[in-house]
Amino acid sequence: MQVGLVGWRGMVGSVLMQRMIAEKDFKNVASVFFSTSQSGQAVTLRDGREVVLKDANDLSQLLKMDAIVSCQGGDYTQKIHGPLRDAGWQGYWIDAASTLRMASNALVVLDPINIDDIHAALDDGKKDFIGGNCTTSLMMLAMHGLFRDELVEWVSAMTYQAASGAGAQNVRELIEQMGSIYEASKDDLASPKGGILDIDALVLDRMRAKEFPTEYFGTPLAGSLIPWIDADLGNGQSREEWKAQAETNKILGRQGDPIPVEGICVRIGAMRCHSQALTFKLSNSVPVLEVEKILGDANEWVSVIPNDKPSTISMLSPTSVTSTLNIPVGRVRKLNLPGNIYSAFTVGDQLLWGAAEPLRRMLQILVRR
Ligand code: NAP
Repeated sequence: MQVGLVGWRGMVGSVLMQRMIAEKDFKNVASVFFSTSQSGQAVTLRDGREVVLKDANDLSQLLKMDAIVSCQGGDYTQKIHGPLRDAGWQGYWIDAASTLRMASNALVVLDPINIDDIHAALDDGKKDFIGGNCTTSLMMLAMHGLFRDELVEWVSAMTYQAASGAGAQNVRELIEQMGSIYEASKDDLASPKGGILDIDALVLDRMRAKEFPTEYFGTPLAGSLIPWIDADLGNGQSREEWKAQAETNKILGRQGDPIPVEGICVRIGAMRCHSQALTFKLSNSVPVLEVEKILGDANEWVSVIPNDKPSTISMLSPTSVTSTLNIPVGRVRKLNLPGNIYSAFTVGDQLLWGAAEPLRRMLQILVRR
């Protein structure tokens, strides 16, 4: 199988490469590497292979591929996918971008949950398999058991999303912002007598200064937060917030009878991992121990963290979860509110289960068929 990889040096693409090398996926396919900006250049990949990059905008090269895995972004998909299909390309398109997710002939892939739908779509001759929104996929893996048992009436997901969710350039900017803050305050910090309000004022002055690096986020993130992610839909909702309900129900095959999923999506200064405070209503009163059992038994990646302070602060944070496929869920509690309303908190690496992992697993499903 001839597989073209586009966007492999970006945030998602780099993690995809890491995982494919770790799982020896490249042994099963002939891989061709593309770039939109570096075609013709010779590069050394993480596994030591030397390759010359092909032009990701050259349809004649792309047409030779049996499958294309794109982590390049929505603009690229918008520009290339249609013309490729119009040119008669019959290969499999596997994509991290949201552009095609809602298309009727595309399936949103999250195989621990919808493996049967994936096989049915392949049997049906479908060719477009798209990874889900990162927060949505992570929420669904965490809540898998409750969705499977049809216990969920609605979910509110308040998110705490990492800088890397916005891409490689944004991660660099977050670190530059952190460095700039330290630079502004380091002399006062070094002196044990430095007054805390003086330090606070220095930091704030720097964060509000013109030279503070904000090209990619548009505003300070380090030392602050941004309660808006993705486009403005004009109805008070961001596109990131809209995706949660739309994609959850597409993955569950419940578009005709959707489960309401709502929330506010917030960017925070974490490097990697999206965290979510979940509030959900169950259709009946289920003891907390049973809720925890249903959550913990649903798939091999989810684990329940005891609802106590030491366990929570050591096991339910971006720092402990980053670079793992673990989906810890903790803070499970029946809330002091009327009705069967519960809370949970979950953390997941949005570059792994939230992006790269469903794509590499989709490619492996194709290879095995
Ligand atoms: P990204 O890091 O911005 O990378 C996209 C492309 O930017 C790269 O393939 C590269 O293309 C180019 N690029 C320019 N300067 C670069 C630099 N300094 N370092 C690395 N690459 C650079 O984007 P991404 O976050 O991986 O997102 C790709 C797609 O996945 C988007 O559609 C996004 O919405 C989706 N997604 C992202 C996440 C996430 O957590 N980040 C999660 C789920 C889905 P060339 O080599 O062609 O120049």
